[in-house]
Amino acid sequence: MAIAPSQVYILFPESAPRLFADVSRPLSDRSSASRLTPAALLVAALALGLLGVWLIDDLADLRGSPAWFPVWLHSITEVFSITVAVLVFAVAWHSNHSQSRSNPLLGCAFLAIALLDLAHLLSYKGMPDFVTPASPEKAIGFWLVARLFTAAALLLVAIRWSNRQAGRSRLGLLVASLATVALTLYLKLYQPQIWPRTFIEGQGLTAFKIAVEWLLIALLGIAAARFWYLRNADLPYDARGMLAATLISILSELCFTFYGNVNSFYSLLGHIYKIISYCFIYQVVFVASIRAPYERLSQEMNERQAAERQVEFLAFHDSLTGLPNQSLLKDRTRQALSRTQRKGGLIAMLFLDVDDFKLINDALGHGQGDALLRAMARRLESLIPESATPSRSGGDEFVILLADLEDTDAVANRVQQILAGLEEPFVIAGERLQISVSLGAAVAPGDAEDFAGLLRNAEMAMYRAKASGRRTWRYYDVEMDSEMQQRLQMINDLRQAVGNQELVLYYQPQIDLRSNAIIAVEALIRWQHPSRGLVPPDQFIPLAEDSGLIVSIGAWTLDEACRQMARWRTEGAEIACVAVNISAVQLYQGDLESAVTGALKRHALPASCLELELTESSLIRNTTQVLEKLDRLKRLGVRLSIDDFGTGYSSLAYLQRLAVDMLKIDRTFVQNLHAADGVAIVSAIIQMATALGLQTLAEGVEDQLTGEALQALGCDFAQGYHYARPCPAANLALGNGGRNFA
Ligand code: C2E
Ligand code: CA
Ligand code: CA
Repeated sequence: MAIAPSQVYILFPESAPRLFADVSRPLSDRSSASRLTPAALLVAALALGLLGVWLIDDLADLRGSPAWFPVWLHSITEVFSITVAVLVFAVAWHSNHSQSRSNPLLGCAFLAIALLDLAHLLSYKGMPDFVTPASPEKAIGFWLVARLFTAAALLLVAIRWSNRQAGRSRLGLLVASLATVALTLYLKLYQPQIWPRTFIEGQGLTAFKIAVEWLLIALLGIAAARFWYLRNADLPYDARGMLAATLISILSELCFTFYGNVNSFYSLLGHIYKIISYCFIYQVVFVASIRAPYERLSQEMNERQAAERQVEFLAFHDSLTGLPNQSLLKDRTRQALSRTQRKGGLIAMLFLDVDDFKLINDALGHGQGDALLRAMARRLESLIPESATPSRSGGDEFVILLADLEDTDAVANRVQQILAGLEEPFVIAGERLQISVSLGAAVAPGDAEDFAGLLRNAEMAMYRAKASGRRTWRYYDVEMDSEMQQRLQMINDLRQAVGNQELVLYYQPQIDLRSNAIIAVEALIRWQHPSRGLVPPDQFIPLAEDSGLIVSIGAWTLDEACRQMARWRTEGAEIACVAVNISAVQLYQGDLESAVTGALKRHALPASCLELELTESSLIRNTTQVLEKLDRLKRLGVRLSIDDFGTGYSSLAYLQRLAVDMLKIDRTFVQNLHAADGVAIVSAIIQMATALGLQTLAEGVEDQLTGEALQALGCDFAQGYHYARPCPAANLALGNGGRNFA
């Protein structure tokens, strides 16, 4: 698969800088730091060698004896050094790329050096005539010019002589160095008399020659200092290598200030050191011009290939969980479908949705929500056979393709296994987390004949599972199609309900069991649907929660309840407060605090006139965030009660931590009061609440006897059809001290 670099960049924002990083850095400097490198050790050894020779000098007459460096040995060393110089030229000249702009300069200098060293070789004492007879004087002349070239080139590289020009006028540099060589040849061969004396047979080197050597040493010294300074810098070449080369050149030049005879040991040593120095330069130029770029190239190619593989993987996998994505699932489904057509058997598409994932995500934070999804992916993989394809289709939805099944029993068995497997708690960031899923299954052949149909039907079945209370699963059936349509239609209608003023609040009184007086009312929402009539909350609150519409609906409810409460107060009703049901989604997603304060403020209602009813299940994820939120609400002065108490998770731990005022005992317990263990439960709840300093209200009281029994058990308040059904505000006569339900 071909990809553009920009694509890689988008998909790999982190790796991108690495991919297109500063490629000018040579690989050789990655080791680095202040470790002793082999080069440093070599330089030290060479320096010690020279020092040793200098110390034993007189004993062995290394300076004077001509036996050490015969003409044949000189020729060999020079041929060798000329070869290396030519190699430096060739490599540097041909790698004239932007990163190594010093290269042409170094290259041209080394071409001149090679030619001058050749002239030096041909002029060495003992060689045949080269235009004029060979002599030390003549050889030294060429030698010194060559050394000047070396020192100048190293110095220019060290001070980073404006390399841009060098890059542009490569030919100019070549011509200039060749012209200098030609001029030197001409002057040395045809105008020898104009050259100062450098060597006098029998006496040795002249002061001029030694002065020039010291000048060369000084120039090289400056270059070395500069390379030392640059040794850790980010350069397109290895400054440490150049430093070694320069230092060895200095050692070489030192040898040439010592000898008294061109065939002496010092001369041999100087030539050898020179070759080593050239080799270092060659190594640096070669690495910078050829090896490093090549290595960078292959590294970039590897990275690019890895990126391409990754892109290819991502094209068919979900980036969060690494599971196959829809494209791959589609492909596998097609294959599985065509297999079943040929060989028979079934395939099943399972659509899973985590129950209340939004709440988990908001409560835990998205990082941990992602971790949960990843853990779920791994768990799913372990729960299904090889032949199945698990995939994530986005959000908290997973789709699994079960292929090559014998019959629907196999589907049911597998689904049970998956559901049971997912019930096992997950450990996310050290916390145990229990989740449930709702699952829908569609089977082919039968429910649909292609991927899109299977997916859609499995999703519909999943919605049915959600609607039947979650934590369960459903097969697709044809009726679901129309249900699905209805569901979508309802959500659409609901979206407009607030604006169209189709929502109304009914109020149900809450009774003080001792005085039988109305002490408060609970606001219960109804939807006056234009064609369906009055829709009860059970039929649209779950839709509103799923679609997020509950946040705006809840805000409306708060406002409307506060408005009505304020009105009752002005009419002289003596009820203490209005209770409003708050959905978990509002608690975790909406800005509940500002909805509450806004409503109170708009209607100039004291906070104590408002009670918020929170369900137990919405509080179990009592993260510090929610606890703090509730604390702040409590500090505003509103009352808090726990609705449907006993049906959820009934944990004492959170009851203690929450600053609630009242428990509302769920009507299933209240209506069970006459059964054998019914009393025990209700009385236990009341005693516990009393011990914690909480008030209790019994919901769903439908007859006189129940009310009396509750009072006997110490319950404070009651609510139910026995006292009053929920009704519009206008139908409730609360004025003039309220009504009594004696
Ligand atoms: P809930 O908070 O438990 O409300 C009490 C429900 O019990 C009400 O049903 C009420 O009409 C009913 N009820 C009252 N007394 C009796 C009785 O003696 N016997 C029986 N069998 N039922 C009785 P409703 O109004 O249909 O509300 C159902 C649920 O819808 C509420 O349960 C509440 O969870 C939710 N709900 C209602 N209004 C709102 C609202 O404004 N916001 C939110 N988020 N949820 C609401
Ligand atoms: Ca309630
Ligand atoms: Ca309730």
